[in-house]
Amino acid sequence: MAERPKALIVGAGIAGLAAAWWLDKAGWSSVIIEKAPGIRDGGYIVSLSGPCRDTVERMDLGPRLSEVSYKFDENVLSDVHGRRLLRLRYKDVHGGVDSLALCRGDLARALLDALPTSVDIRFDETLEDAVLRDDKVTATLKSGTVIEADLLIGADGIRSFTRDRFWKEADCLEHLGYMYGVYDVEGNTELGSDCVSFNSPGHLDVLYRLRNDRLAALHIWRDDGVKLHDRQGKPRVIRDATAGRNITLIKDVLDRAEKTGYTPLIDSLTMVDLQSWSQGRVVLLGDAAHCLTLMSGQGAGMALVSAEILGKELMRTSDVAEALASHERKLRPVIERLQDRSRRMAAMYIPKSTFSYYLRNLLLKIMPYSWIVSWHVNSTKSEIELMQS
Ligand SMILES: Cc1cc2nc3c(=O)[nH]c(=O)nc-3n(C[C@H](O)[C@H](O)[C@H](O)COP(=O)(O)OP(=O)(O)OC[C@H]3O[C@@H](n4cnc5c(N)ncnc54)[C@H](O)[C@@H]3O)c2cc1C
Repeated sequence: MAERPKALIVGAGIAGLAAAWWLDKAGWSSVIIEKAPGIRDGGYIVSLSGPCRDTVERMDLGPRLSEVSYKFDENVLSDVHGRRLLRLRYKDVHGGVDSLALCRGDLARALLDALPTSVDIRFDETLEDAVLRDDKVTATLKSGTVIEADLLIGADGIRSFTRDRFWKEADCLEHLGYMYGVYDVEGNTELGSDCVSFNSPGHLDVLYRLRNDRLAALHIWRDDGVKLHDRQGKPRVIRDATAGRNITLIKDVLDRAEKTGYTPLIDSLTMVDLQSWSQGRVVLLGDAAHCLTLMSGQGAGMALVSAEILGKELMRTSDVAEALASHERKLRPVIERLQDRSRRMAAMYIPKSTFSYYLRNLLLKIMPYSWIVSWHVNSTKSEIELMQS
């Protein structure tokens, strides 16, 4: 039997794990290297809607993901004085388009458990260097292991090492002017709803009720994003960002989190906009290629879709260059639209100036609820249509 072509995948996140699954279907074997000691559990809530819902079904993940999903009824957006600005019911927003709300960790674990035996996954391992030669990639790993592969897949997230190594486009990062911090914390707090949000100019705090008496917290604030490296993982950064807003609920949640010695995930809202996602036998997938930021609500979804398209292209043709080009041709129009949506979502949900904040609130007050709902529904439906065209 002919030997399977081999892919080296950097990153066991949503894109990397899904790519290994689809490449197996295309007759490839994969080695995944992940710098963390294991799959990152818990974390924040991601909602899967739009084109990725079909991908999830085709991966036979529907039942498993439904089991661990959350049925959030609504998101209540208030100002810092507790005055309600908007009550969005999820079933309206998704307008008949199916959606799954999950902890990112549960999604990653489901993808990990679904991996076939052709996939070799190595934790605590990273790429030290890689050299491209004709139609092969020779990669040296941190452990000293050398791997020769037919394709190197950089699925190593927004701060991709693979991208830095092979793409020298220093200006591919578009900072939206916000930072965010996420974590989950033990303890039952009466939220009054499944999901509550507090908004003021340049700030948004969101709390989700999770199972087993846990809460997931997300804080977004206007910030130039400089010295990011010094701020990653530091609870103090979130305490400072939320200070002065005086929201008792948020203070309580932070107090509780700090008592447990938590390490929040802190990063900037930054999009990745590259001219091309592949070079020879190297391709970027997911956030590494085209981070959409959490504002689009489609980053994980598109990582899944991208992996499926790549797998199917490699199934269709043994010409890897043609497969990579076709993958990008199919996906890029949707990605560009979603990046546009991220910019608009940020301006709508976290207006930066006091003037735009009060203007937005006035619009929310006078606009019929059905218009707001249509805006959300139409954008999701248009992505599905674009993928199907
Ligand atoms: C708060 C928040 C809410 C979100 N909400 C949604 C939502 O509602 N819907 C949605 O679809 N998306 C959402 N997203 C976006 C989504 O989480 C990301 O787009 C998605 O996780 C991207 O997947 P990825 O595999 O490309 O990157 P990641 O999930 O970031 O995975 C990258 C992996 O690579 C590993 N890695 C990094 N560097 C190296 C290295 N040098 N060597 C080896 N391994 C490495 C990392 O440890 C990680 O495991 C949200 C994101 C956030 C932060």
